[in-house]
Amino acid sequence: MPLEVKPRFVVLYGSQKGQAQSIAEGIAEEAEEHGLVADLCCLNQDDKYNLEKECAPVVFVVSTTGDGEPPDNALQFVKRIKKRTLSPDHYEHLLYALLALGDTNYANFCNCGKTIERRLRELGARQFYPTGYADDGVGLELVIDPWLKGLWNSIKDALTKMASDRNVQLKEDSAKEIPESSLPDVQLNLLSIADKQICEPDSKYSPSLAISDVRPPPASTVYTSAPNTQACSEGIPQVSLAASLTSSVPPLSESSLNVPALPPAYLDVTLQEADTAEQAAERLSKEARYEVPISKAVQLSKGDSVKTALLLELDISAFPSMTYHPGDSFDVFCPNVAEEVDHLLHRLGLQDQKNHRVQISLKDNTKKKGAQVPPHIPENVSLLFLLTWCLEIRSVPKKAFLRALVEHTSDSAQRRRLQELCSKQGAADYNLYVRDASLGVSELLAAFPSCSPPLSLLIEFLPKLQPRPYSAACSLLRHPEKLRFVFNVVEFPACSWRPAGRRGLCTGWLFDLVSPGLVFPEKAELALPKIHVSLRPNCSFRPPSDPSLPFVMIGPGTGVAPFIGFLQQREEERKENPEAKFGETWLFFGCRYRDKDYLFREELENFVSSGTLNHLKVCFSREDRKDEEEPPSAAQPRYVQHNLLLCCRQVTDILLRRNGYIYVCGDAKNMAKDVNETLMEMIKTELQVDQLEAMKTLAGLREQKRYLQDIWA
Ligand code: FAD
Repeated sequence: MPLEVKPRFVVLYGSQKGQAQSIAEGIAEEAEEHGLVADLCCLNQDDKYNLEKECAPVVFVVSTTGDGEPPDNALQFVKRIKKRTLSPDHYEHLLYALLALGDTNYANFCNCGKTIERRLRELGARQFYPTGYADDGVGLELVIDPWLKGLWNSIKDALTKMASDRNVQLKEDSAKEIPESSLPDVQLNLLSIADKQICEPDSKYSPSLAISDVRPPPASTVYTSAPNTQACSEGIPQVSLAASLTSSVPPLSESSLNVPALPPAYLDVTLQEADTAEQAAERLSKEARYEVPISKAVQLSKGDSVKTALLLELDISAFPSMTYHPGDSFDVFCPNVAEEVDHLLHRLGLQDQKNHRVQISLKDNTKKKGAQVPPHIPENVSLLFLLTWCLEIRSVPKKAFLRALVEHTSDSAQRRRLQELCSKQGAADYNLYVRDASLGVSELLAAFPSCSPPLSLLIEFLPKLQPRPYSAACSLLRHPEKLRFVFNVVEFPACSWRPAGRRGLCTGWLFDLVSPGLVFPEKAELALPKIHVSLRPNCSFRPPSDPSLPFVMIGPGTGVAPFIGFLQQREEERKENPEAKFGETWLFFGCRYRDKDYLFREELENFVSSGTLNHLKVCFSREDRKDEEEPPSAAQPRYVQHNLLLCCRQVTDILLRRNGYIYVCGDAKNMAKDVNETLMEMIKTELQVDQLEAMKTLAGLREQKRYLQDIWA
């Protein structure tokens, strides 16, 4: 009798914010529909998988974080496979596919995925399906959806190939020692998979909900927004519709839908009355490491500057081990907004139980692959703490979450709309009304009043509330026992679905924390509240280790932060070693108005006077422009790259002939890209080379870690 063993493959993920993890989980869950079984592991669970001995296909799903770094839970793996002692045939037996997640707004797009792939190849592994590079800058789904669609047949082909290779091997061996009749039937089973499954319908979407199950309801029940009525040619009133979050228009409203399979529930959550009060600070300290008082809060921007820029100073004297270097950044742990938490508690009907302790356990017999109690939720926390400090309640619900919400929605029109939003046919509506609108779960529940999800669903689907990183804006040599940072208070304007507008989570919270004691530069220090932070050393974004080398810094707006640290450090070093040779320093700074948001103006000018900063190039994007329509040019510097172009000869000389460094810090979306393009043009002009050669030269500078970026969205 043939052995009934489903062919297996392995899914490994490295994920910083949960995105790659949820895709990997989705693959593992869907495996069964394809007659396969998946072993799902996080890359850091190296006791649970063994690539050295793996004989099944391996699918990697990995994101990239920071300046092209691996996510925390993939760091050790990347380190391991980078070891130069590994032989070129180390992974010769391995067949792999890889999905890399990244964001083209940042340098080193998909760098972690690319690094893993490069090493796998160098170590002999063979790819069985082309790598997908998904770009969060334009929408991950554009690549992920078709990639996942094509994955299944490729896995089956890979399994078939591996099985046939093994059969050949076995036959060769058996010719020597084993009679052919004793080969296990499972091998034959594997050989037939590809044929069996090749004509499947679109496999990403659950057959149980495909086509016939999700039919459009009558038009009258679908639309919850007020439609306009017009007479059609037969004189029957016809609905002329405007689509919105809660309503759709033809053809979507009339289309049959392919919706994703229902993700299996995996958590049991109970609430228990508590007899002791919770110490939130103690809980936070465990993760955050340092609870430090704010010793100073200064508003750097003035008047009606569009953005409010603040400098905060932390007193770190209680933690002598908390040392950092200019160029390092650190994480600030911030809570969700109290009113938003309160609103969610009300909406879940749990307001009266907010101080109850949350007990979370895995459901018995859950079908979810790799199910685990989310590690970012400490044991025995109160419901209030959970919603305030652990879950990113503003995060945009993924399609799998919408799919799960359908099961908890009683109104049929609302169910239909949620199905549309997570369906293949409704992808454009999802992008427009959910993703691009940055819709949070509270707003979604407000729009779909008959949806009443259990708390467990939110815990299953909402990602970890991430701490926000900030660059150190000072040097310990100048400010011992202090850590300063600078930020703009992020403002999201009001829009039709969010009439009040809102602030960025962390910057809004910090602003509220310090605004009662906010001072302008000339005022004294005040006692302000404490916040939780932890350090994130950045070993490459540092001033040159050889101080005699010249360097160029480009940091408009708050991007100037680390360079204040660089320059303070340099100034102190110059005082300590007046005889030493120090390389030339350049800073390109830009802001809107000289009198409103020229951050650190006085300090920068002092650096120039003292000779610490040799060249300060500043431009103001909204000043002195008689004709706003006129395109910006190098002759009329408006942005940092225009000034850079004006100093083409000197800057390229530093980079190409004097072994110098260039650092870029700040906005990833526009500035870093524009600067990169400008550098390319400068190299083309200076070296008289074409685009390709200029790109290679820049890539070379990056590789030598002489072109460094610290950029953020
Ligand atoms: P969030 O609430 O996280 O919102 C910001 C992002 O969320 C937006 O960019 C947008 O993509 C999205 N978003 C949320 N809601 C909406 C909406 N309604 N409409 C549109 N989009 C929305 N920042 C500094 O100011 N100074 C620094 O020195 C600094 N250093 C950094 C160093 C590193 C290594 C990194 C990675 C980032 C750094 N940042 C810095 C950025 C900083 O970490 C935060 O991202 C930033 O301050 C915004 O945080 P927030 O919580 O206020 O905003």
